Amino acid sequence: MAERLHTQNYINGEWCDAALGAVFPVDNPATKELIEEVADSTTTDVERAIDAAYDAFAFWSTTSPIERARLLHRWFCLIVEHTDVLANLMTRECGKPFVESKGEVAYGASFVEWFAEEAKRIYGDIIPAATPDRQLLVHKAPIGVCAAITPWNFPLAMITRKCAPALAAGCTVVVKPAEGTPLTALALAALAEQAGFPAGVFNVVCAAHGVEVGRVLSTHEKVRKLSFTGSTAVGKQLLKQSAETVKRVSMELGGNAPFIVFDDADLEQAIQGALASKYRNSGQTCVCANRFIVQDTVYEQFAERLKEATEALKVGNGLDAGIAIGPLINGAAVGKVSELVRCAINDGARALCGAQTHSAGDNFYMPTVLTEVSPSMAIASTEIFGPVSTLIRFTEEAEAIHIANATPFGLAAYFYTEDRHRMWRVADALDYGMIGVNEGIISTTLAPFGGQKQSGMGREGSMYGIDEYLELKYVCMGGMK
Ligand code: ADP
Repeated sequence: MAERLHTQNYINGEWCDAALGAVFPVDNPATKELIEEVADSTTTDVERAIDAAYDAFAFWSTTSPIERARLLHRWFCLIVEHTDVLANLMTRECGKPFVESKGEVAYGASFVEWFAEEAKRIYGDIIPAATPDRQLLVHKAPIGVCAAITPWNFPLAMITRKCAPALAAGCTVVVKPAEGTPLTALALAALAEQAGFPAGVFNVVCAAHGVEVGRVLSTHEKVRKLSFTGSTAVGKQLLKQSAETVKRVSMELGGNAPFIVFDDADLEQAIQGALASKYRNSGQTCVCANRFIVQDTVYEQFAERLKEATEALKVGNGLDAGIAIGPLINGAAVGKVSELVRCAINDGARALCGAQTHSAGDNFYMPTVLTEVSPSMAIASTEIFGPVSTLIRFTEEAEAIHIANATPFGLAAYFYTEDRHRMWRVADALDYGMIGVNEGIISTTLAPFGGQKQSGMGREGSMYGIDEYLELKYVCMGGMK
């Protein structure tokens, strides 16, 4: 795998071109150079993958959990062994700094290790019956063929976070990676093949546009579960499409994360948390702080320190040493961020730094700090997905909570305070699926990842993650003597 890039689909244990022979280009967002051309699939290809996964389910679902755990563990070891190769590929495909790509390999691999262990612990229950002639048993059975549609901002971890629990549970999988980052997905498939997963258990189908393949995956009778990470608009579309065949769904959609700084916070700690939360992957994660909500008594001080720290971030090609901010994924992303910043400034926001594209190339945007942002501005209600910090002012705790919750999203929220009473109170009051108290990075395999409201449904990772791929099956054994 290390030696060559795979560019064909991986279906039923074979590497194959798209049925129509079409390909699409995958470019490096930092240099805009072509990396490779990849199979551009249509309905025929994805239906073939679904059929393969369906046939494989018949035997994979009855494989011993120990065997599934063994294969997953082998896959985990191979991913870790190939850390540098995978990280290099990811940085070239999506632009994130190399150290962050290495971090993602470790994070992505950790789901495979975790669920290799969980495979052995899919326990059922015996329910005490009302009469002695009955035994009431509850089994947990794999749900069936699972489809995973994944985004470009975590090209590896979003695949393992879905597929490792599915495979551990005894499900088979068809993955449709984002068009920007299919090479990492195919590299993962090559490692799964090397690990020894039987043909048809893990399939990857690539496409230049998600619509057609997504439609098949979300409407096909043989697919019993759809797990999606991406934009809320596409998630809603997939939910509607999945309704026809009543599929189980997990949706990890957009966010609008508040990051509240109270005046009793350790400000230096808050700045470090802000940098980590805001600028990871150049601000292109769904849990990135989107709105800094800062108490007026420390507002100027926080703004000044954040500006200094933001200006010190080195921008450039993620493969170069010391780079903290890589390119945005494409020109459209730069256009969207530029427009949000322009409108905010028009409406009265003040730029302390940045607020323009960067000389490193067309896809680069300067890390930016905007003060005097108001909750009514478009930049405060839109997921920015770029390296732009927006600072909103508040006076009272209740006001901060109101601003934080006044959004249809509910994925991640952060706040900084040294007051232990406030920690409980505010954590309780925030309508979010994940909350960081004095922490800017909270994602871990050990804890449930997921959102409330229009940020989605279902949880990934942790002791809860495998339930998304299991059905409860109740068996009543009657007439016992
Ligand atoms: P982003 O804005 O982060 O690119 P998207 O929601 O557009 O998020 O993309 C996430 C994933 O959904 C990608 O794999 C993409 O190809 C896929 N996708 C995009 N549009 C559709 C669609 N209409 N139906 C199914 N999948 C789609």
